[in-house]
Amino acid sequence: MVGDDPRRFIPSTAALLAHPRVRSAALSQHVIDQTIHRAQERARRGELPPGQVEAEVLARLDSARPSSMRPVINATGVVVHTNLGRAPLSAAARDAIVDASGYVDVEMDLETGRRSRRGASARSALLAACPPAEDALIVNNGAAALALACAALVGRGIVVISRGELVEIGAGFRLPELIESAGAQLLEVGTTNRTHITDYARALGRIPEGTPACVLKVHPSNYRISGFTAGATVAELSELSKHHGLPLVADIGSGLLTHEPALPEEPDLSTTLSDGADLVIASGDKLLGGPQAGLLLGSSAVISQLSAHPMARAMRTDKLTLAAMEATLNGGRTPVSDALHADPEELRRRTEGMAESLDARTVPHDGRVGGGGAPEFPLPGWAVQLPQAAASLLRRHEPPVLARTHDKTCLIDLRCVPPGDDPTVLEAARWALEELSSARGSDA
Ligand SMILES: *Cc1c(COP(=O)(O)O)cnc(C)c1O
Repeated sequence: MVGDDPRRFIPSTAALLAHPRVRSAALSQHVIDQTIHRAQERARRGELPPGQVEAEVLARLDSARPSSMRPVINATGVVVHTNLGRAPLSAAARDAIVDASGYVDVEMDLETGRRSRRGASARSALLAACPPAEDALIVNNGAAALALACAALVGRGIVVISRGELVEIGAGFRLPELIESAGAQLLEVGTTNRTHITDYARALGRIPEGTPACVLKVHPSNYRISGFTAGATVAELSELSKHHGLPLVADIGSGLLTHEPALPEEPDLSTTLSDGADLVIASGDKLLGGPQAGLLLGSSAVISQLSAHPMARAMRTDKLTLAAMEATLNGGRTPVSDALHADPEELRRRTEGMAESLDARTVPHDGRVGGGGAPEFPLPGWAVQLPQAAASLLRRHEPPVLARTHDKTCLIDLRCVPPGDDPTVLEAARWALEELSSARGSDA
């Protein structure tokens, strides 16, 4: 190294660590060390003047956040958007999570000072919201709930299921594979498009006496078979299962508590139980609008059998989830319900206002339920239409705005945008359009 090599002036690690702003950074030591090391490396490679290393380190530490997950604005029109974390929580649920994040009486009766049943209040809230259920159990997600139901009710026995319900739900999540991985064997009945109650009756007649078994009905979620189709109802299956002394399990997917007139064909927990299912399974973070959870509701006998299974402990719900679930159930309307019931006239007024400010077009646009709920069911509304290239710019805005790209256009749908965020979306769209026009200007 020659004497006047500028790399001699790169500040040492010890000097940088001693800087008061580095010492007071609310970040782990390994994050700070890595930040310092990277800035020094850039200076050694000649990418950064040695005199700027300290400023670079301070700037990086200022902008570093302990968690990198960023809040985004959902302007896609898809209410339960899997890639955006499914259900956004209500204010009540968010507050409950903050309250539960310290020490909390999740398993303690403050009257007696004794240990209490974990999550008893979330369970009570669920039972109050779904009167036909005798008992309930909450686990980590819908897939866990289904695996537990199969393991606890049939073990290595038989799960009877229609061929039309052997579905793949998310990327790589195949329901039949989950059931088999829990140890059970599938007994497939009917055909892809048509399964009759007589198909189930024949199958149940073939199960050897004493073999543990259940009948499983699954909401096909992400797809729909139309045309020449047939299926058995929960009421029909309940009568048949009872006759054979076997439990009927229904995985309804989305977790509506009661019938939702806006989604006339979507199953709900209360109706499915009233129609005779012994156990109903649903997710907490789809149409229920709560935190990620697997809900199991049904008869006392079935729920006790599930709670007693060792696997139930491996799927035990976190205190934050229990707090958010109870608050979702007791705390009034949820953002999911608001988005589902958004008034089309109000959406039109907001959309036209934004389009006018941007000198853009307002076009009719159907939102979707998403998350496997009510597949293909349109939620009529409106969108601001921008050039397709605006979409990637909107994603890079702070906060990022996620729009829908369709037919070589970028569509901003305000259904899932809280009205208070409209000015932010407008500002992002304006910025994106300016970037596009200045890019065009420099091309010319
Ligand atoms: C979404 C869904 C599941 C899986 O639930 P997760 O909460 O995502 O684990 C299972 N069954 C059906 C029918 C679903 O729609």
